[in-house]
Amino acid sequence: MAENIVLPGDYIGTEEEYLAGKCVYSLDGKLYSSCAGKLKIVKDFEATVEPIDQKPQLKFGDEVIGVVTDINEPIIVVQVEYILRDGKLIPYDERVLLHASRIFGRFINEAGKFVKIRDVIKGKVVLISPTRIDISIEKPEDGVILAFCMKCRKPLEKINTGLYCRYCQRTELRKTADIYGGELLLKKVKEIEG
Ligand SMILES: [Zn+2]
Repeated sequence: MAENIVLPGDYIGTEEEYLAGKCVYSLDGKLYSSCAGKLKIVKDFEATVEPIDQKPQLKFGDEVIGVVTDINEPIIVVQVEYILRDGKLIPYDERVLLHASRIFGRFINEAGKFVKIRDVIKGKVVLISPTRIDISIEKPEDGVILAFCMKCRKPLEKINTGLYCRYCQRTELRKTADIYGGELLLKKVKEIEG
């Protein structure tokens, strides 16, 4: 049994070699794939293509990592960059929303006091509707995982009383995740610094 990736229109073989199975069509005695997926030659020389989902789908409860792009009280707009599944970062590109009431689990007036534009946050998907996807950062493991000094733009360090910029010697407030400054942060900083 062979297995490899094919794209729509890819030549698979002749009708003498294989029978046309799922996602495979025949033209002038030759077989081609009609979708993108994994080509499998199964018993009786039947060629089938198992379609591959081009894009992972967000599910309820998924952990996501993204960057805050906009704040329109009481809504914070987050551009998701990764889904975190089984400890792996899966690249993903989707705009999701964080409502002020989902920062601490109760309504607050100024969401922008605790989450700021350019912050990198980790949250969980709590709502999926046809028009919007909402996340929450209420849990201790969720929140801002990387923030930058509003003055000098350098990454802030977590200290007891908040986030601190050693260059400007000033502190800032955020709803941080307990992993702030952990491995995810280091990966992100490396990415930004190239
Ligand atoms: Zn600074």
